[in-house]
Amino acid sequence: MQALSLSMNRSAWVRLALFLVALGVAGALWFRALNSQGDSLTVSYSELLAAVDGARVAEVLVENERVVAKLKEKSAAGREQLLVASRLPNIDERELITRLEAKGVSISGRIERGSFWPAVLSSILPIVMLVLLFRAVGGMISGARGARPMSFGKSQAKIFDRSSENRTTFLDVAGVDEARNELIEVVNYLKDPEKYRAVGARVPKGVLLVGAPGTGKTLLARAVAGESGVPFFSMSGSEFVEMFVGVGASRVRDLFTQAKERAPCIVFIDELDAVGKTRAGGGVFAANEEREQTLNQLLVEMDGFDASVGIVIMAATNRPEVLDKALLRAGRFDRQVLVDRPDVRGREAILRVHAKRLVMQDVDLKVVAQRTPGMVGADLANVVNEAALATARRDAKKVEQRDFEEAIDRLQLGLRKDGRVMNDAERRRVAWHEAGHALVALSVKHADPVHRVTIIPRSIGALGATLQLPTEDRYLMTEDELRDALAVLMGGRTAEELVFEGVSTGAQNDLERASELARQMVCRFGMSPLGPQTFGRPGGSQFLGGGAVSFEERNFSEATAQSIDQEVRRLLDAAHQRAQEVLGARRTALDAIASELLVKETLERDALEALVNARGPGLKTA
Ligand code: ADP
Ligand code: MG
Ligand code: ZN
Repeated sequence: MQALSLSMNRSAWVRLALFLVALGVAGALWFRALNSQGDSLTVSYSELLAAVDGARVAEVLVENERVVAKLKEKSAAGREQLLVASRLPNIDERELITRLEAKGVSISGRIERGSFWPAVLSSILPIVMLVLLFRAVGGMISGARGARPMSFGKSQAKIFDRSSENRTTFLDVAGVDEARNELIEVVNYLKDPEKYRAVGARVPKGVLLVGAPGTGKTLLARAVAGESGVPFFSMSGSEFVEMFVGVGASRVRDLFTQAKERAPCIVFIDELDAVGKTRAGGGVFAANEEREQTLNQLLVEMDGFDASVGIVIMAATNRPEVLDKALLRAGRFDRQVLVDRPDVRGREAILRVHAKRLVMQDVDLKVVAQRTPGMVGADLANVVNEAALATARRDAKKVEQRDFEEAIDRLQLGLRKDGRVMNDAERRRVAWHEAGHALVALSVKHADPVHRVTIIPRSIGALGATLQLPTEDRYLMTEDELRDALAVLMGGRTAEELVFEGVSTGAQNDLERASELARQMVCRFGMSPLGPQTFGRPGGSQFLGGGAVSFEERNFSEATAQSIDQEVRRLLDAAHQRAQEVLGARRTALDAIASELLVKETLERDALEALVNARGPGLKTA
C-alpha cells in the first residue's frame, strides 16, 4: 500500500480541490457578513460622546450591546465611517439621547436576535465540510479495497473529437515515412474493414510504435485518429498504474468494454512500458503487484476478441527492451513499427511542417537540416520556435537564417550534454567505421546484402548502423558464410585503423559479437582444427532473482580450454586481416562511401552499390 496522499487518483484530487474552494468561499462570506457596514472603528463610550458633542455624528444606531454612530464625513476612500462603542452596563441612554436630540442627530434602535447568515454559516458549514471530507477519504479507501470501486475503475480514456478543425493528419508528420506507410494501411483497414474481410486478409491486432523520445510516436497515433474516422480511445500507460491495486486492471477491462461497443475503433496506449515491464518474480512493492495485475488484464483483453471485431490496438514505447515478452507474441502486439530518428532529408521535411506558420525571409531549411544531425522531431519543432523567438528578440518581422543559426546554437548545447549529438570529429570517425562495414559486406562473397548504412545514432551505444538483410530465411549457415560475417564485423574497426590515429570505443559491440560468433564456431559448430566436436554442455537455465541465467557446464580439460582460446583468436585475426585486405585495396570506394555518408547520413542499397561500382570492379574475395 502506498501512502494515501501519493496514490490519490484524479477524481479524489478534484474532490479535494472542490472542498478547498468551498472552504474559501465560506470564509469570504463569513468575513463579509461581519464587516458589511463600512469602515468601523471601535472607540470608548466617552470618545463616542465627544464625537456627538463635536457635531461630527450624523446618525446613531443603538443595538443590544453596542452603540454605532455614523459620522458625517466620509473616509478618504469614500466609505462611511462608523464609531462603535460598547454600551455601558445597566445604564440607560437617556443622557445620551438628550445630547443627541440637542444636536439633531437621528436615533434608531435594533434588537438583535443574532444575525442570520453568520449563524447559519458558523453552525452548518463545518458539518457540511466534515461530510465532504469523509466522502473524499471514504471514496479513496473503498477504492483501495473494492475490485470495482465506484468511479475509480472507470477508464478515463480520452476520445478524440474527429470533427474539430485542428485535427492531426498524416500531413503533420514528416520524416518517418516507413512508419507512416505502415500506419496508412491500418487506417485503410479501419475505413473499410469489409474489403479486407472479403479477401480474407488479416490485419494485425496490435501495432507497437517503437522509437526514441520525441520522434513523433504520439503524433503518429493522433494522426491515425484524425485520418481514420473511427473512435479513438487514448490512454497513457502511467494512468493505469498510478492508483490502487486492482484499479488499473478494472480500468483496462472498462476500456475494452467501451471499445467493443464502438468497434471499429482504435485503442491507443501511450508509454506502454509503464504497464508492460517484465513481470518480476515476487512482488515486493504494491506498485509492482498493481502493474502486474494491469498487465495480465491487458493480455486477457487482447486475447479476448478476434481481429474481425475491428479493434486495432496501438501502443507506443521508447523502451521496447523492458517490455514483457508475452506482449509481443502472435495475436498481441505482433507488428512493430520503428519510428526512426530522421536523416537529413527527413529533418528538412519536418522543419517544413513546423515552419509553415512562420513568416520567413531567405531561409534555407536544407542548410538548417544539415546543421542538426541527431535531432528528432520534437527538437526540430523546438528549433523553429526558438528561431521565431530570436526574431522577436531583435524586433524583426521576418525570420531569417541567422535566427535559425542562433536557435541551433542554443539547443545544441543541451543536446551535446545528453550525448545525443556528435561533434565533427566523431561524425567522421563513425562515417568511416560504417563505410568499412558496408564495403567489406559488399566485397566478400557470402555476406548478406547491405540494405542500408547510416551514421544517425540509433540507440544509446550504437552510433551508426549497417543493416544487412538476409536474402532468404536461413536455417543453416555455412562455414564460409560465418567467416565472411566475421570479416564484416571487423570492417568498422579496421576502417578506423586505416584512416585515423588509433581506434575508438565505437567498435565494442562489433567485437563482442565477433568474439561470441568465433567461439561458437569452435565450440558448437566444430569449425576449427580442433575437429568435429562440441565443447561445453549447455546447462540449461536457472532462475535467479527474476531473470533466467543460462550457464555452461565445462566438460574439457584446461589444455583444451587453451586450444579453444587459440582457435578463437585465429578466426578473429583472420577476419581482421581479410577486412584489412579488402579496405586497403578499395580505399577510394571506402572514402567515397564515408564522404557521402557525411552529407546524406543514410545510404540505401541502390545508392551504395552505384557508388562502389563506379570505383572499380567488385572484388568478391573468397
Ligand atoms: P514521442 O511520442 O515519440 O515522444 P511526440 O509525438 O510527442 O514524440 O512529439 C512531440 C512533438 O514533436 C510533436 O508534437 C511534434 O510537434 C514534434 N514532432 C515529433 N516528431 C515529428 C515528426 N516526425 N514530424 C513533425 N513533427 C514532429
Ligand atoms: Mg509520446
Ligand atoms: Zn561497427
